[in-house]
Amino acid sequence: ALDPAYRGRFAPSPTGPLHYGSLYTAIASFLQARSKGGKWLVRIDDLDSARCQQQYSSKILKTLEQFGLTWDEPVFYQHTRHHDYQQALEQLLERQLLYPCQCSRKDLANRGLHAGLYDGHCLSHPLKPNQPSALRIRLANKKISFIDAVQGPSHHKLQTQHDDFVMFRKDRVYAYHLAVVIDDNTQGITEVLRGHDLLDSTYQQIHLQQLLNIQTPHYAHIPVITDTSGIKLSKQTYASDISLSPVKPTLLRTFVHLSLNPPQELLESSTADILNWGIKHWSLKQIIAQQSLPLQSN
Ligand code: GLU
Ligand code: ZN
Repeated sequence: ALDPAYRGRFAPSPTGPLHYGSLYTAIASFLQARSKGGKWLVRIDDLDSARCQQQYSSKILKTLEQFGLTWDEPVFYQHTRHHDYQQALEQLLERQLLYPCQCSRKDLANRGLHAGLYDGHCLSHPLKPNQPSALRIRLANKKISFIDAVQGPSHHKLQTQHDDFVMFRKDRVYAYHLAVVIDDNTQGITEVLRGHDLLDSTYQQIHLQQLLNIQTPHYAHIPVITDTSGIKLSKQTYASDISLSPVKPTLLRTFVHLSLNPPQELLESSTADILNWGIKHWSLKQIIAQQSLPLQSN
């Protein structure tokens, strides 16, 4: 159904060029926004200046344009948003919801916590002077529930399934959860459509929205594309730069992964018309509720 008030977004982190898996997510959110007659925005999640590069931000934007994905409002950059993140942190600090933690990765591993939940060590041990601290959030014993448009009803018990997660890192970088929640709100995002790998982060994000008195958007987590060995396509697995692939066959390929059935003749149409075909046939309901989807050859 049409929903002109709909506002969706694609929020890549510029740690490398766009690969097939991220293009597929971009196209899903684009088709969802356009089929509702709503807005589609792009945000560059360049929080971590050590890992993000300006050259990748511009390259990602060029690649989106190359594939005909045009956004409706000026691109939002997280590196310009520190003031708002800081304000939110101060508000939470004042309410005594944050506490300093000096544990290093190694300290956690030595206590057997590499994958497990943080043990609250720094709540009961004195801090060492002149050593950098992170800020962790004190979690409440609370249940978080939401209905994902693809994956269905989801609930977690915060304290048993999540730990006191980091809100501000020792290296003075704001946490992803904080930035996402603040920016989705500032951008007026009504639905967050992203990969299933981020489903678990939704609980922390909803918790922060509730603490900061921010309205929770709708969520839709689509399966992530995996390679033949079942591993998510990512920069870490050297997924290749999608800007080097031919536009039209690649678009058709993403459509197939998005449960659409594009006719081969569509290849003779323009990029814009291929996308228009996608907008017309798109249905989020056709996306299968699963975690991942193996990459198929065309
Ligand atoms: N920047 C995040 C990523 O590339 C996505 C953020 C989001 O969609 O919430 O994994
Ligand atoms: Zn600690």
